[in-house]
Amino acid sequence: MTTRSPIWHPFTQHGLEEPIPLVTRAEGAALLTADGRRVIDAISSWWVTTHGHGHPRIAAAIADQASRLDQIIFAGWTHEPAETLARDLVAMMPPALPHVFFSDSGSTAVEVALKMALGFWANRGSPRHRILVMEHSYHGDTIGAMSIGARGVFNRAYSPLLFDVATIPFPAPGQEQTTYDALAAACAAPDAAAFIVEPLILGAGGMLVYPPAVLAEMHRICAALDVLFIADEVMTGWGRTGTLLACEQAGVVPDILCLAKGLTGGAIPLAVTLASDAIYDAHYSTDRALQFFHSSSYTANPIACAAANANLAIWREEPVRERIATLVERQAAMLARLATLPRATNPRQCGTMIAIDIAVADGAGYMADIAPRLLAHFREADVLLRPLGNTVYVMPPYCIEEADLARIEAVIGEVTG
Ligand SMILES: *Cc1c(COP(=O)(O)O)cnc(C)c1O
Repeated sequence: MTTRSPIWHPFTQHGLEEPIPLVTRAEGAALLTADGRRVIDAISSWWVTTHGHGHPRIAAAIADQASRLDQIIFAGWTHEPAETLARDLVAMMPPALPHVFFSDSGSTAVEVALKMALGFWANRGSPRHRILVMEHSYHGDTIGAMSIGARGVFNRAYSPLLFDVATIPFPAPGQEQTTYDALAAACAAPDAAAFIVEPLILGAGGMLVYPPAVLAEMHRICAALDVLFIADEVMTGWGRTGTLLACEQAGVVPDILCLAKGLTGGAIPLAVTLASDAIYDAHYSTDRALQFFHSSSYTANPIACAAANANLAIWREEPVRERIATLVERQAAMLARLATLPRATNPRQCGTMIAIDIAVADGAGYMADIAPRLLAHFREADVLLRPLGNTVYVMPPYCIEEADLARIEAVIGEVTG
């Protein structure tokens, strides 16, 4: 790049002057760059691309909708793409979640969930307001979402603005009872309002997995103590864990469900927060002061809804579940081989996602010195992988071919041997 760009990139230290590839096209699991490289997208462009880049049905739906109705106010008005999407989502998701609230990103879907939970209690005259969270969680980068996520270098500067939460220890193998006891104690506090959790796998916190039985038990504890259960399936939704929702594997139906990333197949921003009758009913009244006070300019943008409708049609009509099952098997085989490499530790899999930690002498964690070296290695090898510290994970689009998976494996092998 010859001239300096005015762009300030997310999660990027510009002072390190690392190269920033210019991508001109994307198709399937590949990104094509201006300088003629074909880069394998091994992390689904930060976990959003499910069926692959440029799925023709999603692209066509966007083009068609853009020419007919691009955008309209959603407070007190409606449109067909949103109506269709809401109806079809309710039909596809657990039946106890019949109300659909739209927003624009995973972070806003989470903010909406928190506000719904607090509104639920406030409208019933209850003082409950405390949010319970799991250690190492990530729920987004807005102030509320940061407040309920792990504290660290990412949000230290903003910590004076973050609100207090009750934090439950991660259910490490053998330590599950500690988690249950802490959750039960937190739920018993008179101010406990809701527990929010990433089901089965904590993503940005380091791809930490725990079994469905633990999720089921945590849900049981919350229900028994009358604390709302919020599932943040922003990453885990849309097949990532092998099933449409991760909660399915535990037979858990949350009171509030957050979906974003794969909702449009990863083509365009859109999010939904689904709510139970009880949550909706607490806001349903002739008193305008009890309505749900949340909106953003582009709530339920018709073009984004059309893309999501195409995604749902793909789920209904294409062999998506078979593609996922195939990928789960191939990932398991790759993980078994990676696990034998000398420096690979903690091999783990959750559905289509696999991760290993690379043993390092100079300290682990997100700011581990190894991270920038790994990033540079993968970039130079034309594979988009973005380790979380010394944790290397592979989360490809479901359409990825075996040859591309083999290339990813080889590139990881080069730094793990
Ligand atoms: C990515 C993510 C978010 C935030 O979503 P954005 O669309 O990036 O705002 C929230 N929760 C989880 C579990 C995520 O992985």
